[in-house]
Order: sequence, then C-alpha cells, then structure tokens
Amino acid sequence: MRVLHVCAEMFPLLKTGGLADVSGALPLALAPLGCEVRVLLPGFPSILAGLAIDGEVASFETFAGAVRLLFGKTSDGVAVYVIEAPHLYERGGNPYQDGNHHPYADNHVRFALLGWMAARIAEGCDPYWRPSVVHAHDWHAGLAPAYLAAVGHPARSVFTIHNLAYQGVFSPSDFAAVDLPAHFFDVNGLEFHGHLSFMKAGIFYADRVTTVSPTYATEITGTEQGCGLDGLLRDRGGALSGVLNGVDPAIWNPEHDALIAASYSADKLAGKAKCKAALQATMGLEVVADKPLFAVVSRLTEQKGLHLVLEVLHEITDRGGQFVLLGSGDAAMEAAFRVAAAENPSQIAVKIGYDESFSHQIMAGSDVIMVPSRFEPCGLTQLYGLKYGALPLVRRVGGLSDTVVDCSLENLHEGIATGAVFNEFSSEELTRGIRRIFALWARPKEWKAVRLQGMNADFGWDTAAAQYCDLYRALGA
Ligand code: ADP
Repeated sequence: MRVLHVCAEMFPLLKTGGLADVSGALPLALAPLGCEVRVLLPGFPSILAGLAIDGEVASFETFAGAVRLLFGKTSDGVAVYVIEAPHLYERGGNPYQDGNHHPYADNHVRFALLGWMAARIAEGCDPYWRPSVVHAHDWHAGLAPAYLAAVGHPARSVFTIHNLAYQGVFSPSDFAAVDLPAHFFDVNGLEFHGHLSFMKAGIFYADRVTTVSPTYATEITGTEQGCGLDGLLRDRGGALSGVLNGVDPAIWNPEHDALIAASYSADKLAGKAKCKAALQATMGLEVVADKPLFAVVSRLTEQKGLHLVLEVLHEITDRGGQFVLLGSGDAAMEAAFRVAAAENPSQIAVKIGYDESFSHQIMAGSDVIMVPSRFEPCGLTQLYGLKYGALPLVRRVGGLSDTVVDCSLENLHEGIATGAVFNEFSSEELTRGIRRIFALWARPKEWKAVRLQGMNADFGWDTAAAQYCDLYRALGA
C-alpha cells in the first residue's frame, strides 16, 4: 500500500509545532505495517538543507510559476518529495509569516501548490512511484483532496485536522489564482462565507477526515469548538474519526536522551533529581529538591490558556513551588512572563524563544507540566511530560482528557491516576488543580505511584499507525 503524506513541516527538518512531530514520526511507524510512505513538503530552506537530494522527478509550469519536484531522503531514510520553488519558499524566518508576524500575502498560492503537486504525484508524474492514498495534513495541504477531485480522484484521500482554529481562509478573489474548476467555489465545495477556505476544502473533498484525538473529533462537531465548520463536520458523520497522536521513542525517552543532564527511567529515577537540579541552576532558580517545579513549554497564544497561568502564578510560589516557562508568541504575554520572573527570580524563570533542546531539559527537570488549554486537539507536551515523569496538570478538553487521568481519590485507589485534571477554563479551577498537585506532593508515596503510572503509560505510535492503516485499507488502498 503506497501512501503519500502531504504537509508543511516535518521534524527534524522544520518544526513550528506538534504537526511536525506527527509527520516526522508517522511515516516511520507506518513502514513496518506494510505501508510504503513518502512525504511531500514545500522547499523551505531548512527542508532542502536537511535532505539528501537524489535528483529531479519532474518540472512544471504552474499557476505559481516554474517549479521543480525533487526527490530525496531524510537522515532516517524517509523518502521525501520536495517542491523547489525559491520564489515562494525561500524566505527568512517562519514558513507562514514574515518577520512582523504577518502572513505572507501569497500564502494561498504557496500552499495551493502543495496540494496541486500531490495530485500530480497521484496522477503518476513519478513513473517509479504512485500512491493509492494521499494523506493531507492541516489547512496547508487542504487543497490536495480538491485537486484530486478535480482530476477524477486518481487516489483516495484522507485529511487530518491538527488544529481547526487555523483554517487558511483567503479572499474570494484569490480563488482565481489557484487553478481549480470554477464550480468548486460553492457552498458545496471550498467556499466558506464568501471566502476561499483550505480547511473546508480538505474536510469537504477528502474521502475520510480524521483529527488527532477521539474527544476533539466529537468536540468539533459542536458549535463551541467547530469554528464555523461544525455543520459540515456533522454532515461528514461516519467519515470523521479521531486517532490519538503518539510519542516518538527515538526522540522522547529519558533513558536515551542525549539532550538532558542525566538519563533515567521508571525503574531508575536518580537521574531525574539531577535533571531538576541542573534545570534550576541553569535558570537561576534556587536549587531545592523538596519543592515542586512547575513548567510550561508552549506557543504563547490565547488557545493555550497561559493568561490563566499568569493570574495564578502566586498560588504556586506562595506554596513554595517554582515555575519555569519556555515559549514564544504573543508579545504582551512574553512581556508579562518576563516581568513575573524579574520580580521573583528565585522561584520563577522564563526563557522566551523556541529551543528544542531546552524543551527536553524542561521535561526532564520539572515535576509538573502545565497545559491549561482552552481547546487542545491532542497536545503533545502532556505526553512528553508523562514519559519524563513530569505530572501533567491539564484542562479536561480534547486530547488532554483522552491522555491524562486525574488523581482523584478513586483513581489513586485504583492505581490509574497519571496527573491532575480540572474542568472549567477559569483561574479558580486552575487554582484547584494546583492545590491538588500540592496535596499530592505532600504524599510522596502517592506522588511516586502516579509518576510511575504516567511513565509506564503507552502512547507509542504503533497504535495510531495501526488505526491509520485500517483506515487506508477501508478505502480500498
Ligand atoms: P501545538 O502543536 O498546538 O503547538 P502540541 O502540544 O501538539 O501543541 O505540540 C507542541 C510541540 O512544540 C511540542 O513538541 C512542544 O515541545 C514544542 N514546543 C512548543 N513551544 C516550544 C518552544 N518554545 N521551544 C521548543 N519546543 C516547543
């Protein structure tokens, strides 16, 4: 079975969020199940630089100008098609925005080309390899199912929503630039309130639609989290399902992680204490073992609920706890966290920026990883926290509620608790969660049992890969 994954980023070549972790891990997990996977990516500079390029597959004159399709391999041996179009992709900084955080004006063309190229590969532009399934990820690849529909479905299609909040909506006049049949611009098509929506295209035209957790798959069919697409998602009914993301053990495993101060495992935890002391020292916090160290590793956006964290930071520090944050995004939030750290440097430390290596050190060195999101399609940081023995403190929403079991009395009694879960999106509820964490911390035996349960929880990619394989087979691939 040949499957072409189509996405805008892929770890370790390029990562701005969880999407890259998924596209980096899934092809490797699918391979042993008999799936021959290739990935199609835009030729962003770090992607071209990170691949061993074999050569050119084809060249095209397109609505987006002259482009070449190259073929290469990642250092892990994953086969990758990459679109070489320097006039579109070779720009400094973020793949989606300019230096002032403004989306590039030609994003509709840059990402339409990604979907368009998927359809060419499905039609057989590479004489040596042709997919039976095109699996497109997020709005950037949302037009792939539409371009396939436009040429009579040369392959079946799956579209995965990693975050419904980012939809790729463009002005109606941009539709003319992307080379699709005029009748596609319709309410029964990719038209969304008079605009062109890449996300809607993916949902409307794909044979199957998935999202990254079962709970989020249900939530997005309601008005609160449907982002205006809940009606269409309800219509897609049986074609929509949730497949929980996994953790790549080659990247995220405290037993074999070269990025952390000392290795450790569920059986041998001594190294975790060393990692905590190292993190405290690096960040200028007081080096103490007997107080819980709370952490956040996140994009700083409204979605992630970090303004709630700002409101209740004193609930952590007043109880003697410490807090460390690694993140970037919203400028006001960055500034507010910096101020909090400046006011209380022995208990609060903040690093603004994106730092893959430091994110591992935080997971290893902290006791609690906070993910108080307003909504969360799957969430990976809480999964990394579980694996690294940092208890997740999360809101009961989306993938967070599918992956963390609250330390209620009954769950403790049954030995199934892995963290602390609160319900409402409010600072009061988050405070209750913090208090529960401190109550558990005061019972070291129970703390250790919960940590152990979390570290031993199985969120491997095998389960997800098997479910995607079943889905491809159900499509007759
Ligand atoms: P999202 O995709 O919504 O950002 P996820 O939890 O699914 O959220 O994935 C976030 C990924 O990005 C995780 O791998 C997390 O460790 C990483 N990450 C987020 N912010 C940073 C940062 N500032 N530095 C390093 N890694 C980060």
